[in-house]
Amino acid sequence: MYKWRNQVIQNKLYILAIAFSILALAACAPATAVNSPSGNTVTTVPTSVSPTNSIATPLIPETGSTSTAEPATDSSLACGGGATSANVTPSLTEGPYYKSGSPGQANLFQEGMPGTKIVITGYVYDTNCQPVVNAWLDFWQADANGNYDNSGYTLRGHQYTDANGRFQLTTVVPGLYPGRTEHIHVKVQAPNGQTITSQLFFPGVTQNNEDGIYNAGLLLSLTETADGLQGQYNFFVPGS
Ligand code: FE
Repeated sequence: MYKWRNQVIQNKLYILAIAFSILALAACAPATAVNSPSGNTVTTVPTSVSPTNSIATPLIPETGSTSTAEPATDSSLACGGGATSANVTPSLTEGPYYKSGSPGQANLFQEGMPGTKIVITGYVYDTNCQPVVNAWLDFWQADANGNYDNSGYTLRGHQYTDANGRFQLTTVVPGLYPGRTEHIHVKVQAPNGQTITSQLFFPGVTQNNEDGIYNAGLLLSLTETADGLQGQYNFFVPGS
């Protein structure tokens, strides 16, 4: 009798255990189902983030180009984007090292010359944003060690703008000398116009802010290319 009763109790416990296991599995099943879509969501998120990133990626260079264009606002971009007027290029002191009678040469660079070669291009415009053909530009500068050639005409030369009002100067980045940041002296004159005497500066030079003559409106826009360092600057001379 006891045996039979025990057997019944044992069977009941067995059934309970099976029922409990089924319940436990049932409870786990929805959790697995939740996890599954949740996992899909996780993989979906990067997919939906990815296009956002690909949209954001081109914005980065745009932001960058805005900041690099900033120094050029006073110069190269002044007559861009349909603008019809611009201010005359700021005048700066001639300094003690100007020599008249420079040779006509747009290439001041000589092989073996110390320093970084640079090609500077730009236009001469009048203040109505019209290119000035045959404008005279006379450049002079220190060499990479900060020395001027006062006996000859090394790193001195004049040229004229072409039929589009464009000039191109090949030279070296000038060195520092006491009290002065890196700069290239220039005189610009439209045919029969007023001569503008000024200086061009290089962005990112620590001494710019320590030089009382420095003017941010005369900063070159620089680009490092496969062909070397390129500078850009547009001059604006009084309208005739
Ligand atoms: Fe100088």
